[in-house]
Amino acid sequence: MNGNGKETPLIEVKGLKKAFEIKKGFLGQKKLLKAVDGVSFAIRKGETFSLVGESGCGKSTTGRLVTRLLKPSEGEVWYDGQNISGLSDNAMRPIRRNIQMVFQDPYASLNPRMKVKDLVAEPLLIHTKLTPGERDKLASELLETVGLNSLHAERYAHEFSGGQRQRIGIARALSVRPSLIVADEPVSALDVSIQSQVLNLLQDLQEEYGLTYLFISHDLSVVEHISDRIGVMYLGSLVETADKDALYDKPLHPYTQALLSSVPVPDPSLKKERIILKGDLPSPVDPPTGCRFHTRCPSCMEICKTQAPIFREVEPGHEVACHLYNE
Ligand code: SF4
Repeated sequence: MNGNGKETPLIEVKGLKKAFEIKKGFLGQKKLLKAVDGVSFAIRKGETFSLVGESGCGKSTTGRLVTRLLKPSEGEVWYDGQNISGLSDNAMRPIRRNIQMVFQDPYASLNPRMKVKDLVAEPLLIHTKLTPGERDKLASELLETVGLNSLHAERYAHEFSGGQRQRIGIARALSVRPSLIVADEPVSALDVSIQSQVLNLLQDLQEEYGLTYLFISHDLSVVEHISDRIGVMYLGSLVETADKDALYDKPLHPYTQALLSSVPVPDPSLKKERIILKGDLPSPVDPPTGCRFHTRCPSCMEICKTQAPIFREVEPGHEVACHLYNE
């Protein structure tokens, strides 16, 4: 609990910014690519918060900032009431085991020369003093927990299918009993039928271990069933956050409305009009003035071209950055 009698969020992100210096143009001038530009949100313990948006919107960079794989240029990340943004690598060590990551491409993130039991147990080697025998035993148990056969512990990652490799990645993340898992597009490389199996596994594990998830995806249809709350990102900023039901039933931001219009509905008699966005995603190096979405927004007004809308709560728990909802 904090001083206001409210439960302390497991993760709180305040005004987070990350800029990368890049060389651009014929003369190689240095420019700043603002990948994340002032993002704030909180995730309660046991909750699944999903970040959604097109490729290049800054959602994966945000995930890496939360895990401290990247250091922020500005802003803060709080873990369980502690500001971890400026901690040294040494000071981060005891916290790092609590924040684990599951990656999009399990094959690229698993060392092909290591046996599966060693891949799963590697975080235990770094973060615990367990003996080799104890690590092997735990690795076998974890393989069973994620729906794999412990007899396969001696095999290598290339001997498994894509879905099985993602299960290995999840077992590896689970090994040190984290409280938060940042899952970056964990099912987007998998067949649709396998996607739901892995999503179900993540939900079961959340219940069993009381996990909190930051789930990152470009696809609103993937996050619908797993999320409690959703944040929609566009060009480095959050444009809308809401409870899952509120976001799917009554999306407020024109960008969220466009994203949702392309999500397939199971009942073909419920026809939806697809909103086609004009133009490409602008460059985060030279973002549009005013509302960053104004170059593609079907509801753009004059004010949108010069004045950035404020991200504010317009209904309880439902925040949006759009001049359409100005008081
Ligand atoms: Fe569209 Fe204007 Fe709202 Fe931006 S502020 S989303 S341009 S209506």
